[in-house]
Amino acid sequence: MNFSSRLLENAVNEFAKLPGVGQKTALRLVLHLLNQNKEEVEAFSGALTRLKNEIRYCKECSNISDSETCEICASNKRDGSLVCIVEDTRDVMAIENTHQFNGVYHVLGGLISPMDGIGPSDLNIDRLVQRVQTGEIQEVILALSATMEGDTTIFYIYKKLKDLPVKISTIARGIAFGGEIEYADEITLARSIATRVPYTG
Ligand SMILES: [Zn+2]
Repeated sequence: MNFSSRLLENAVNEFAKLPGVGQKTALRLVLHLLNQNKEEVEAFSGALTRLKNEIRYCKECSNISDSETCEICASNKRDGSLVCIVEDTRDVMAIENTHQFNGVYHVLGGLISPMDGIGPSDLNIDRLVQRVQTGEIQEVILALSATMEGDTTIFYIYKKLKDLPVKISTIARGIAFGGEIEYADEITLARSIATRVPYTG
């Protein structure tokens, strides 16, 4: 692409780094922003800067939060003895949208994937074990994707928790979790949590 302006080219190149955005789309978005008034563009860039500078991770569940403890963990209406273990914040959002789960979460921040160089120490698994060791958790529900990475992660967590006094269950598999769970329909997702089965390794 031949640009008439280095400033335009820089902005397009930044947008084109986003997943699923090619150069043509990037150019369309940049030209759109250029046509907006200054305040709107500043609100746009300000939202991104604030997001990156001010975002926190809940000290209990590691979910993305505005404060030290997220709203779900801080709520006295939630059952802290029931913990749903998920890959990332998109899964929390999808399950929250069902309005059927009253427990709390534990966000792993990924799945074990030797091919991508992601090992157990890269995920929030030690923190999960600590939470279970406090004795306040009666059941963990492993709500991870039905992929090799999901299975590997489930088995690893099972081995870590199996000698602790906690019930371990998994949701009905076949739900596309982890990035795709957001597209699972809410009734199917809610049912898969309600009909969870004990995990026995
Ligand atoms: Zn939390």
